[in-house]
Amino acid sequence: MLPRDPIPVDLFKDNQELRRRLDELVAHARHNERVLARVQEMELRLIGAAGLPELLDVVLAGTRDAFSLETVTLALLDPEYEVRRMLESLGYPSHERPGLILLDACAPLPWQDEVALAPVLGAFDAARHGGLYPSGVEPPVMVALLPLVRGGRLIGSLNLGSRSAERFQPGLAADFLARIAAVTAICVENVINNERLKHLGLTDPLTGVHNRRYFDQRVREELDRSRRLGAPLNCLLLDVDHFKAVNDAHGHQVGDWVLREVASRIKAQLRLSDALARYGGEEFAVLLSQTDTGSAVAIAERIRQSIVQRPFQLRGWQSISVALSIGIAAMREVPGTDRVEALADDLVARADAALYKAKRAGRNRVVAAGP
Ligand code: GH3
Ligand code: MG
Ligand code: MG
Repeated sequence: MLPRDPIPVDLFKDNQELRRRLDELVAHARHNERVLARVQEMELRLIGAAGLPELLDVVLAGTRDAFSLETVTLALLDPEYEVRRMLESLGYPSHERPGLILLDACAPLPWQDEVALAPVLGAFDAARHGGLYPSGVEPPVMVALLPLVRGGRLIGSLNLGSRSAERFQPGLAADFLARIAAVTAICVENVINNERLKHLGLTDPLTGVHNRRYFDQRVREELDRSRRLGAPLNCLLLDVDHFKAVNDAHGHQVGDWVLREVASRIKAQLRLSDALARYGGEEFAVLLSQTDTGSAVAIAERIRQSIVQRPFQLRGWQSISVALSIGIAAMREVPGTDRVEALADDLVARADAALYKAKRAGRNRVVAAGP
């Protein structure tokens, strides 16, 4: 047998280099695997979010934690203030969500002139990106701005920010990021559509306040909560006085406009947490949670005055004077039953009886039911 040739130094070096490259590739593949697992977990959380507030939490806090980032913001185009109104009616006004930016127009987004809506990766530039990182949040060093697109239309952007200069280098493959952005866009659109449908089913189209269906649900929830907290709950029923005469004198359309105005004046006297609904034709209902009867009477009196003291101005010099009668009742336990439905019926029936008394006593007044 011939002696084996010694391995040439060149070949040995090549081999070592190949090994090093292979280790690097394996490490890279492992890293990608871990990122993919995080992306997939994130996607499941986005898809699982039950409503708009929860989805916003997942997008803002979830993305930040899952990818170890310092700042994540979400910008949504909201030219008609629809999302802002939704959040308000859900009890989460947008200003209570740092990191959520609701835009009237596209201007702060970096894609106005571009045909391709591609992610923007690179160093943070206050002049160009400042609008996507509000003054409250610490500006990042590197950013990845991901366009949220639905049906070819830009609906907002998901903005990731890191203090590490190594992340989001321009030219880096952004497939994972683009995927997160695509799923986020679908989920945001879905959740907004759902809220829109829910809202339509529970809103009075004439006045824009809640409808009776909403009120019937809400009164039970509020009764439940008040009982648990041992807190008072008051219900107001408000009926426009001699409204038929308004219709007769000025026509139905003016009557409709008066109803819208009455609703908005009532709303102006309430807190965000109070519920206002159009209960029937020219009748409204209000729930005042954590409010004792003394305060409820004062609020009702303020509402009444806000209607009576300022006549409703029609075109020209004509104006219409409108008055309102209000009945109030406080939640009480009903002997012989524990059912919240029975409590709700009792509450509304006693507010209605108080309203009837106010009408009988001459209208344009507030009457509270006895305990
Ligand atoms: P009272 O002081 O006893 O409440 O007198 P009223 O005239 O307000 O009460 P009544 O129940 O006799 O009449 C209510 C009127 O409200 C009759 C109805 O045509 C009108 N109405 C109910 N819903 C609407 C509506 O959506 N638009 C308009 N324009 N009128 C409505
Ligand atoms: Mg009336
Ligand atoms: Mg009526």
